[in-house]
Amino acid sequence: MKAIRRFTVRTVLPSSIAPLGRLASNLRWSWHQPTLRLFESLDPAAWRASGGDPVKLLGTVSREKLESIAQDEHLVSVISDLGADLDRYLNEPRWYQGLGEDAPTSIAYFSPEYGISAVLPQYSGGLGILAGDHLKAASDLGVPLVAVGLLYKAGYFKQALSRDGWQLETYPVLDPNGLPLTLLREEDGTPARITLPLPDNRHLSAQIWRADVGRVPLLLLDSDVIGNDDAARGITDRLYGGGGDHRLQQELLLGMGGVKALRVHQRLTGAPAAEVFHSNEGHAGFLGVERIRELMDQGMTWEEALTVSRASTVFTTHTPVPAGIDRFEQTQIRHFFTAGLAQSVPTDKILSLGVENYEGGDSTKFNMAVMGLRLAQRANGVAKLHGEVSREMFSGLWPGFDNSEVPITSVTNGVHVPTWIDPEVTALASEKFGVATVHDRDWGRAYEIDDKDLWDLRRKLRSNLVQDVRRRVKRAWRRRGASDAELAWTENVLDPDVLTIGFARRVPTYKRLTLMLRDPDRLKALLLHPTHPIQVVVAGKSHPADEQGKKMIQDLVRFTDDPEVRHRIVFLPNYDIAMAQTLFPGCDVWLNNPLRPLEASGTSGMKSAINGGLNLSILDGWWDEMYDGNNGWAIPSANPTKGTRTREVYNADQRDDIEAAALYDLLENSVGPMFYGTEPPADAGAAGPSDPPTDSLPHEWLEMVKHTLADLGPNVSASRMLKDYVNRLYRPASSSGRYMAADGYTAAKDLALWIAKVRDGWSTVQVENVDSVGVSENPQIGDSLTVQAYVSLGSLRPEDVSVEAAYGMVTENDKISEHRIQELAPAEDLGSGRHLFRGTIRIEQAGPFGYTVRVLPTHSGLASKAELGLVVNA
Ligand SMILES: *Cc1c(COP(=O)(O)O)cnc(C)c1O
Repeated sequence: MKAIRRFTVRTVLPSSIAPLGRLASNLRWSWHQPTLRLFESLDPAAWRASGGDPVKLLGTVSREKLESIAQDEHLVSVISDLGADLDRYLNEPRWYQGLGEDAPTSIAYFSPEYGISAVLPQYSGGLGILAGDHLKAASDLGVPLVAVGLLYKAGYFKQALSRDGWQLETYPVLDPNGLPLTLLREEDGTPARITLPLPDNRHLSAQIWRADVGRVPLLLLDSDVIGNDDAARGITDRLYGGGGDHRLQQELLLGMGGVKALRVHQRLTGAPAAEVFHSNEGHAGFLGVERIRELMDQGMTWEEALTVSRASTVFTTHTPVPAGIDRFEQTQIRHFFTAGLAQSVPTDKILSLGVENYEGGDSTKFNMAVMGLRLAQRANGVAKLHGEVSREMFSGLWPGFDNSEVPITSVTNGVHVPTWIDPEVTALASEKFGVATVHDRDWGRAYEIDDKDLWDLRRKLRSNLVQDVRRRVKRAWRRRGASDAELAWTENVLDPDVLTIGFARRVPTYKRLTLMLRDPDRLKALLLHPTHPIQVVVAGKSHPADEQGKKMIQDLVRFTDDPEVRHRIVFLPNYDIAMAQTLFPGCDVWLNNPLRPLEASGTSGMKSAINGGLNLSILDGWWDEMYDGNNGWAIPSANPTKGTRTREVYNADQRDDIEAAALYDLLENSVGPMFYGTEPPADAGAAGPSDPPTDSLPHEWLEMVKHTLADLGPNVSASRMLKDYVNRLYRPASSSGRYMAADGYTAAKDLALWIAKVRDGWSTVQVENVDSVGVSENPQIGDSLTVQAYVSLGSLRPEDVSVEAAYGMVTENDKISEHRIQELAPAEDLGSGRHLFRGTIRIEQAGPFGYTVRVLPTHSGLASKAELGLVVNA
């Protein structure tokens, strides 16, 4: 029988254990070990059956059981203590509360996906996990974030395998009532709603679920409500499901609906209005349009409203590949906006935000990342290299500027340590150093850990993984149709004493899941090596529409099916947070072999590092800036690694061959011997030949593990990332936002007028003539030269512009590399809009030297020189 309606009955808790309700509904339990241990201890069997889900657990324990817990003095006191601890955590001043008045009172964070816990499967991969970690770290630091997203009825798909290794997808439907969510309600108890008008007199309404991620509320919009037609109800059906209009409506709901939801949340809870808006990836970009609409409804012009909203918006790009960016048809956008989504905003202005009106662009397209950049005064990539790649990728928006001047900075991603550090690692830290949680300042103590203790810890983590893998492999094979009688071998899959390599991530082509299969015989030899064997654990989901990805999974699964190697290499279906939490700590080496520079940052290697795993990776994403020669291994790239404009020296096949061979070599000659301790220790000479090692520990390996913990620990942590965002982006954005809004938006109105004036007059700006005085035929280091520029400014005034000499070494084609800047001062008004500017530059390097002069608009309200994309070069 199929139920026509379902309810989830919530438990009523006896009053002595009432704090359990709060402990279960606030997701802080997902990274707070004492709370997790409490839930497990209430009923270990029911805890396992619930999949580690406190809400489900409380829903399934019987009344009698709850009564008996309520009578258990010890448990009652633990529950009450943890309840008090949670209250303290939620209210006490933390890092952020020590910052100055300029720190924003509230920051709205938008992302299309959130990976917070396995019990809330609203993520597909890195972007979602990162967003989850961002919220958790914000909570720990007291950063006043309010997050906005969508609640997908089926989340992302669950992955299984067919008999022949093909990916199978299922979409189990989630019941929000059974999730750690509460529905936002009006005072009269009816669910609060937001509504967007759609074409053809339709509408899209959504209710708003709230998840509490520690101190951070996460608002999730859900369009599956009565009153919506079927199509509208289905808008939040799946994460990244469908394309075209379906996807566009998801993004309209996320961005425009998300701002409306924030306003509802403010009204109902008295929460302060957000002073900064942080848009992650292009998907949420319409949030800027909604804010402009709000301001234009109050009577502002387009230019003023744009100026105000840009000032307080931060845009983060997360992809280094143009193909990874959402684009729609311009006609599609027009179709939706003419329905009245933002009546006070001229549709042509909206269309202009996403237009690709630059070299190589397609003017029929509406590009979400381009809109994101145009709607944000501050933007960043997610690793240093990715910043560089992004500046190049989007340089068309700032014509006339060097790539290095494109106003996109970078904040390198991080991982939330309490979520991703194994409880065993924390236990060791607590035993040795008395720290309850590992903070950024504690990592340096890794050097004090005894080699034996560290090795035992690593073996424990590896064994835990081996147990989990055996369970999963058996389950996967049952699902593939094998009978238990055929599966005795799964009891002996993997070995807790063999060097364990992990590889798990989504399966787009550039991540090269199957690079390790490039030479199957060589891989086989490594797996079956008589003295230095490796074992490999692989996992990852392919996008349902990506046949190539599925083929790669199949190739890998077929390799792992071979009875000769199946005890040494496994593919685990359904990679998710739950699997990841055992997988990262259990692997000795974390492998990452993307096509450089296509990995924006990557975070899985960071999660490995904080558990004492060593990275073995192409120098891409975060690893490019954090690899130091002693904290893991760099797989050499076939193509040049310096500079991002990599000339295609090798074709894709050659590149795979070269990089795979380098990978095998490293495993065979460096990683394996060091793990098994058969290489003489680096200081063997110093110790003297008469001092043979007294134990069988691989000391050199363990040194590398300690160095990894000490060096990478504080740098890969999400608290480091959050502090970077706060100090480098959120605080400047809120300062700009406040400045623009003060005194009835005076500064914004002035700036908007000024921008219009500058844009109008810019075409007449011209550098007419440049001469230099004071330099001889044979200039020497230390010589000065005075540059004079005759500039015609037309209708603009000298104070509207900055006239600069850019100088430095020149290459053979007369390009100035790594230019320095000397501002030239207005020296004389020559009449008719002509001015003389003058300044002195010092020659500080030998070699070919050159300079040029350029004119840029300048205003205290601009965040960067290149902001308006206007420059006149001599
Ligand atoms: C960390 C993580 C990712 C992202 O890994 P990358 O290395 O950034 O690709 C994806 N999925 C899960 C479950 C993760 O834990």
